[in-house]
Amino acid sequence: MLKTNYHTHYSICDGKGEAEEYVVAALQKGFTALGFSSHAPVPFENPTNMNQEDLPKYLKTIQTLKSQYQGKLEIYLGLEIDHIHEHPEPQKQLIALPELDYSIGSFHCMWSPKRKEYREIDSTPEIFRAILDEDFGGNIRQFVERYYQYLAELLETLQPTILGHFDLIKKNNPDTLYFKETEPWYQQAVRDMLPYIRKYEPIVEVNTGGIARGKTKEVYPSPWILYELRKEDIPIMINTDAHTPDLLDAFMEEASYIVKDVGYRKVWNLTSKGWIAQPLD
Ligand SMILES: [Zn+2]
Ligand SMILES: [Zn+2]
Repeated sequence: MLKTNYHTHYSICDGKGEAEEYVVAALQKGFTALGFSSHAPVPFENPTNMNQEDLPKYLKTIQTLKSQYQGKLEIYLGLEIDHIHEHPEPQKQLIALPELDYSIGSFHCMWSPKRKEYREIDSTPEIFRAILDEDFGGNIRQFVERYYQYLAELLETLQPTILGHFDLIKKNNPDTLYFKETEPWYQQAVRDMLPYIRKYEPIVEVNTGGIARGKTKEVYPSPWILYELRKEDIPIMINTDAHTPDLLDAFMEEASYIVKDVGYRKVWNLTSKGWIAQPLD
């Protein structure tokens, strides 16, 4: 299996350290390819995302590293782009940037009509609780269903190369605090996503970031969802969502066992020949 990761953040958004530290770590760890996917700007103040003014600097930084490390490491320029339900247009423009090698479409930010602000569904447990209580009257089913509606809408609106952390909504559900993934309504909400995945054909990432940071016990998406995806031959890739250079390859091997376990034989990688399905092993 090739050692690669295409979901990487550094200090231009909410990651730690400089971009080049990730390149050095990737070389030390024997990577063949490294993709940067900093959080693209959103049309409001959000500490997780880079500022609009920083975008040209970001593109230039990664392009410079690309040429600097040519022949040593394949470096790819991506962006993790938020779907913003209320303001889809600026995000659509980002995804169309000609400099990008690929994009990761993710949903994090939900508008609170009460608070008149955006809050991240993967923020602290306290904020998750506040969204649930203030915006959904404590109804977790409505909250979760809204998340998956917006995720389907993301595919329709942005049509990203990669769908980011499919079931991020489970991050703040430790020990089934709010819902069980075996509940029929939850499974239905997940299954309702499948036609959108078939239609817009993103590569679904298996994201180890939650496990690596001790926030979840499973990868995104959960193995039962991966099993559903495998039944439909939906392409997947393994990403670590690294925010520090040392976690660039965190839980990658475990993720490869999980995907093999549900029957996948190949994962997708961006290479100098384009997107290629690489056999696992
Ligand atoms: Zn994300
Ligand atoms: Zn990320």
